[in-house]
Amino acid sequence: MFENLSYKLDKAFQTLKGKGQITEINVATTAKEIRRALIDADVNYKVAKEVTDTIKEEALGKDVLTTVSPGQLLIKITNDELTKLMGGKQEDISLEGSPATILISGLQGSGKTTFSGKLANYLKKQGRTVLLVACDIYRPAAIDQLKVLGEQIGVEVYSEPENKNAEQIAENAIKYAKDNGKSTVIVDTAGRLAVDEQMMNEIEGLKKSLDPSETLFVVDSMTGQDAVNTAKVFNERLDFDGVVLTKLDGDTRGGAALSIRTVVDKPIKFISTGEKMDAIDKFFPERMAGRILGMGDVVSLVEKAQQTFDQDEAQRLNKKIRKNQFDFEDFLSQLQQIKKMGNLKDLMAMIPGMGKAIKNLDIDDDSFKPIEAIIFSMTPEERSNPDVINGSRRQRIATGSGTTVQEVNKLLKQFNEMKKMMKTMNKMSGNKRAMSAMN
Ligand code: GDP
Repeated sequence: MFENLSYKLDKAFQTLKGKGQITEINVATTAKEIRRALIDADVNYKVAKEVTDTIKEEALGKDVLTTVSPGQLLIKITNDELTKLMGGKQEDISLEGSPATILISGLQGSGKTTFSGKLANYLKKQGRTVLLVACDIYRPAAIDQLKVLGEQIGVEVYSEPENKNAEQIAENAIKYAKDNGKSTVIVDTAGRLAVDEQMMNEIEGLKKSLDPSETLFVVDSMTGQDAVNTAKVFNERLDFDGVVLTKLDGDTRGGAALSIRTVVDKPIKFISTGEKMDAIDKFFPERMAGRILGMGDVVSLVEKAQQTFDQDEAQRLNKKIRKNQFDFEDFLSQLQQIKKMGNLKDLMAMIPGMGKAIKNLDIDDDSFKPIEAIIFSMTPEERSNPDVINGSRRQRIATGSGTTVQEVNKLLKQFNEMKKMMKTMNKMSGNKRAMSAMN
């Protein structure tokens, strides 16, 4: 699902890789790439433009935390915007009334009948007693198809093959449901290959007479922009309550999922990802955004960092790194901020590529203890100017911190290497680059 879009978005973020800071130029380039990726995935041009304009604005308004790189921050911002675009929150169908009635609308071939069966199965598993109603008065085969599905999932199917009045069939079905103690009625309707007036009149009439608790519009996500246009026409006539996106298991470019919500202002409630009766899922905008970006781990990392990190402190450290004045005091502060973010192993596992590498390593928050103890045993002068730490000072620090001279030496060596690396990186980008503790 969405492989192409995910790949292109990933490429868009690559343009920021290695960049230490968010600037108007690099954000504009990345935003342009994101827009192109969205349009290629069939996202409506206007929607794509609005989204990327917001991403740009958000990115420029945010300071980069020392723990996350600009690329990571932009992924998080894009993730949030995609989530918003798809409606933000998950929304359920209404099952009010007795029986609760659900009207299924959409074009022929969109997957209405299959979805009706899936929804019946899904609601049955939640303990509801469901009646499926075959209201396609044009295609006897559609009635048979529903009957086969009903048998498969153990749900009764109501039909009147000789009756050509859909409203009457639905009315009789409701009566039948009441008489037989069914809590839920799902009405599968006739569809045409394209929107036509007669079909629209018919389903409009059916909606009026049935007054369902929920009207769903089923749309094939493979049809791209057409899906959005059909949704618009159905919404104008039916004012439906929610959208069902089908065939998301196929090679869909995803644009429909991303544009429908904005264009018709109705939530996507379910997605269908296969022909089997259990291939149905509630639609969670956030999860879908995560799947599209394929970078859920980076998003959680930035979220955690944003929740925990002190922006002023991050700024201060950034400045010191750039001026090559990073000292043990700063190092200690970084350690403590990282510790605040929670379990170290979980945290490190979120860094792309790290998961596997640290799986068998024994890291816990205690790993920091000897390092902290060593720094605590240094005098303020030693912390800000580690070069003064000679042999006898090393011995004193080791004794004071309950460690060994070897451990003190090791930390001093690591610290020097880190500083050297920061210096090289600063030089490489003309002092513009802020080192991040995690990239
Ligand atoms: P209707 O004419 O709207 O009732 O559509 P159907 O339910 O008959 O579905 C049309 C075709 O699409 C059938 O061959 C279904 O098996 C297939 N189909 C429906 N939903 C999905 C889905 O989510 N994924 C895939 N791959 N095929 C589906």
